[in-house]
Amino acid sequence: MPQPKDALVNGYYKEPAPHLENESPFESMMERFRFASEILDLNPGVFKYLSSPEKVVIVSIPITMDDGRIEVFEGYRVIHNSILGPSKGGIRYADDVTLDEVKALAAWMTWKCACVNVPFGGAKGGIRVNPKELSIHELERLTRRYTASMFDVFGPDRDIPAPDMNTNEQTMAWIMDTYSMKSHKNETAVVTGKPIILGGSKGRKEATGHGVITTTLAGLSKLRISPSNATVVVQGFGNVGSVSAQLIYEQGARVIAISDVSGGYYNPNGIDIPEALDYSKDHGFSLEGFPGAESISNKELLELECDVLIPAAKEDQINKENAPRIKAKIIAEGANGPVTANADKILEEKGIMVIPDILANAGGVTVSYFEWVQDRHGYFWTEERVNRRLNRMMRESFDNLFMVSEKYSITLRQAAYVYAIDRVATTLKLRGIYA
Ligand code: NAD
Repeated sequence: MPQPKDALVNGYYKEPAPHLENESPFESMMERFRFASEILDLNPGVFKYLSSPEKVVIVSIPITMDDGRIEVFEGYRVIHNSILGPSKGGIRYADDVTLDEVKALAAWMTWKCACVNVPFGGAKGGIRVNPKELSIHELERLTRRYTASMFDVFGPDRDIPAPDMNTNEQTMAWIMDTYSMKSHKNETAVVTGKPIILGGSKGRKEATGHGVITTTLAGLSKLRISPSNATVVVQGFGNVGSVSAQLIYEQGARVIAISDVSGGYYNPNGIDIPEALDYSKDHGFSLEGFPGAESISNKELLELECDVLIPAAKEDQINKENAPRIKAKIIAEGANGPVTANADKILEEKGIMVIPDILANAGGVTVSYFEWVQDRHGYFWTEERVNRRLNRMMRESFDNLFMVSEKYSITLRQAAYVYAIDRVATTLKLRGIYA
């Protein structure tokens, strides 16, 4: 790791950071990338190299609909970087997905994998489609045709997709089968997030929440707050939020508020999380009408007095408008990009510890890596082994970043980017540029 520097010197980085009008996740990510590059005094050529994706593939996907019509959809796969290993990243199905969004998310994956020492590069994919308008058979044909078009891109040693927005275990099973048929052998390791019966990993579904809580506990211990004395607020009660709430509840913490898209639920004496989980399951995965708490808005929930705030719903939730009113001591970013770059500065001045998304929610990609390892060995681990190794990697990553943050007197987020970019840049230097 290079020595700390006050500010950067080389001409390339003297350019002012772009003014963030709408604080989009991509702009927030670029601002953080630029800042870390300055601290590292990154070679301008390397900065340029890491600012743009290695490969962008756009395909047209024709499928025959159930009524015999032919429809054509647009699909993307962006490989941001594969210096650390095969690229890794989800595939989303949404009618408003854009190539720019996919490019940003692919870069995000590069930093996330590097940050937790997972030997993967970063990628992301998407299809512009409203999956709710397609039948299950149409979705299967769409997925198989997209996979066939990406046959030269995907591969266990090249690029490994995973589920993302509106894709799931079934989608991964279709990708795995199509890829296997075309390559004339079973290639379970070509995707992660598969059903366990097809070579998925135990513990994958809960992995992101597990990672959020492992890093939260590490943060609490740095602030010398015992989990059993901590008050916690969780925004979002889906996969990440509900598992995080349950695990911190099991640690004896008082979860005083939870929320989902139906609104917030607040009880200063603590919410019975197992009861909330049962309620949500019995009510179509919604907390609407949950009786164990009083109703508040999602906006009010974020501003509650608490030790830990876990935004686990969506991006841009804490921005320059509400950041001055945030009272949590720790924010653990379960969601991707819930705090904007402008809010970062305000939270830093307030002395709030932000455990950044590329660390806090990296449990998912870490267990995806375990899934890939298990598939390649053809030998599957117990859930206990998965969780033990996950906890160890997440805890080590937290400690690494904490050291970097102290060394440079920077925030944990800045440290995460410095660590990740340094790791990629050092590997690039050793490998050199192939010509
Ligand atoms: P999910 O769909 O299972 O749950 C999302 C939850 O957020 C739901 O409870 C929903 O009602 C709630 N929500 C939606 N809009 C809301 C709003 N405006 N206010 C409050 N709550 C709202 O999704 P998930 O898998 O839990 O993912 C949540 C976030 O975590 C996303 O940003 C996702 O990208 C990120 N993430 C997920 C994983 C993973 O493994 N699932 C991994 C890394 C990052």
